[in-house]
Amino acid sequence: MSDARVGLVIEDDHDIRELVRTVLTQAGFDVTVASTGAEGVLIAKHLNPDVITLDLGLPDIDGFEVSRQIREFSDAYIVMLTARTEELDTLIGLESGADDYLTKPFRPRELRARVAAMMRRPRSVPDATDTFSVEAAAEGHGHPERGNFSHNGLELSYASRTVVVDGKEMNLTRTEFELLHALLEAGRTVRTKADLVRRLRDEDYDVGSYISEADERSVEVHMGNLRKKLGDSPQQPRWLQTVRGVGYRLAPGEH
Ligand code: CA
Repeated sequence: MSDARVGLVIEDDHDIRELVRTVLTQAGFDVTVASTGAEGVLIAKHLNPDVITLDLGLPDIDGFEVSRQIREFSDAYIVMLTARTEELDTLIGLESGADDYLTKPFRPRELRARVAAMMRRPRSVPDATDTFSVEAAAEGHGHPERGNFSHNGLELSYASRTVVVDGKEMNLTRTEFELLHALLEAGRTVRTKADLVRRLRDEDYDVGSYISEADERSVEVHMGNLRKKLGDSPQQPRWLQTVRGVGYRLAPGEH
C-alpha cells in the first residue's frame, strides 16, 4: 500500500476532468477519475479517497445524490464543482454532505488552495487526547487553544472531532465543525464572515487575502445549516449569535 493520498475526480467533461486531475496530482495525490456518478460511487467505495471533486451535472445521477451515497461510507473531503454562482445557496442548503463548493470556471490555484487547507486539518483522530496538544504545538498554525470546549450544554472535542449537544452526538460536516470551533475559540469576540472564510482556508485571520461575496454568502449558509442541526434559535441563540452586518460570535453563557 502506498502512503500517497488518494484523490477521486468525478466529472463528465473531459477538459475539466483533466485539469482537476493535474491539480490534484501536482498536490501529491494518487488520482483516479470517473465520468459518471455511478462509477464514482463504486470507485469511492473501493479506494477510500481522501479528497473527491464532484461535478454537479453528471449524465446519470446528479452530484447531490452521488454525494449522499458516498457519505454513507466515506468521510472524504468532498468539493462540489458547480456551473453557476446563483445555484450556490440552493446547493449548500440541500445538505448534500459536500464540504466545499467551487463555481466553474475556477482558477486551478483556487482548487489547490482549498485542497491544501483541508489536508492540514486532521481527519477524525482516534483516541488522541494525550498526544493532541503536542501535535497541535508542533503544527504551529497559530491556533493554540485547539482542544476541548464546553458551552451551554454543548461539548466540542477537537481531537476526536466530536460535538455533543445535551448528551447527543451531532453529525456535522467538516466545514460546520470548523465554524463552530472557530466561534468557541473566539468566545465573545466577534468573528467577521471574512475571518471565518479565512479560517476555512486555514489562513491567519489578518492575512488580507481576497474574499468574494460568494465566499461570505457560503459562510452564512453553512452557519444556517449548523444552526438547524444544533437546533439553535437565531432570535434567542444558545451558541451562534449573529452580529448583523458583521459576522458571528458565541452567545453568552447560561446561568
Ligand atoms: Ca458536467
